[in-house]
Amino acid sequence: MPEQEKRTDVNELGEFGLIEHLTKKVKMQQKSTVRGIGDDAAVIKNGEFLTVVSTDMLVEGIHFDLMYTPLKHLGYKSVVVNLSDIYAMNAIPKQITMSIALSNRFSVEALDELYDGIREACANYNVDLVGGDTTSSPKGLYISVTAIGQGEVGKIAYRNTAKIGDLICITGNVGAAYLGLQILEREKRIYLETGAQPNLEGQDYLIERQLRPEARKDMIELFAKNQLIPTSMIDVSDGVASEIFHICNQSGVGAYIEESGVPIHPNAQEMALKFKLDPITCALSGGEDYELIFTIHPNDLEKVKYLPDIYIMGEIVSPDDGIKLYTKGGNIVPLKAQGWKHFGN
Ligand code: ADP
Ligand code: MG
Repeated sequence: MPEQEKRTDVNELGEFGLIEHLTKKVKMQQKSTVRGIGDDAAVIKNGEFLTVVSTDMLVEGIHFDLMYTPLKHLGYKSVVVNLSDIYAMNAIPKQITMSIALSNRFSVEALDELYDGIREACANYNVDLVGGDTTSSPKGLYISVTAIGQGEVGKIAYRNTAKIGDLICITGNVGAAYLGLQILEREKRIYLETGAQPNLEGQDYLIERQLRPEARKDMIELFAKNQLIPTSMIDVSDGVASEIFHICNQSGVGAYIEESGVPIHPNAQEMALKFKLDPITCALSGGEDYELIFTIHPNDLEKVKYLPDIYIMGEIVSPDDGIKLYTKGGNIVPLKAQGWKHFGN
């Protein structure tokens, strides 16, 4: 009997496990490759500057649902989430390329809306759309964006350079985008079951955080103005807990996060309770907030204390101390990235 070929389901590895598996034998050959796989963006030496490159793909049915996502917002978001990865390196995005694959379900008018959003994001963030690719798909819409930015030697903020004693900061509230998604999903279910029109009244803030996020260009500019160079940085795409794990694992350190230091918007707090969800779980595991998590040397505390929109959440500690959450109730528990995302998210 022929030997059974081994077949491993990709879900056994999960997204990060799969990337690790696929890329562990990849070798960098060019001296100009300063940082390859493993950060928010790759870093490439380019004369006296560093070129920073990041790419992301959005798939209909996995990353967006056109039942409640206006195409203009989708175009805007697809650009912004890529720019966020460039800012997360403490670099400035300059250009993007945009590739789309679409089925014949999409009209020219629909694609015009998508491009209205893309152009608006390019204008707001001062980046140029310089190319891309257009092709057909058997079903659904696929959007792939590559962002190219410029960084300065000595100022790039990696994920693997946090040091024991550094303070862990975040640029804004988290959990709102996840709760915005819960509202949209609930209204979709009600509409499909009863035909009732969605009731989104009073939920603009949460829905906007989900459908039309912004990247923290302003914070990177503030860092430059105040001569602050984070010791490490990452943007919140998958969720605070997951991003803290990336920084800690790559830097070989532990961390503690103060529950009371994690900013949650009052609307998010209220909506979490309505959904019978724990607000701090939404904040730590929700994702898609596109805030920046960064660490600073304690000597730089004076610099951040007076900057708007910076919240200190915790501290980098020895790896032996693990990655812990100090709860409001005074308990110390392991920080967990809740597994409510399926592979592909
Ligand atoms: P982010 O959430 O910041 O976009 P990802 O988790 O998507 O980052 O990616 C982590 C790292 O793995 C990045 O350096 C990315 O370029 C790299 N990467 C992801 N998928 C692949 C792949 N299929 N082949 C090579 N590198 C990949
Ligand atoms: Mg990122």
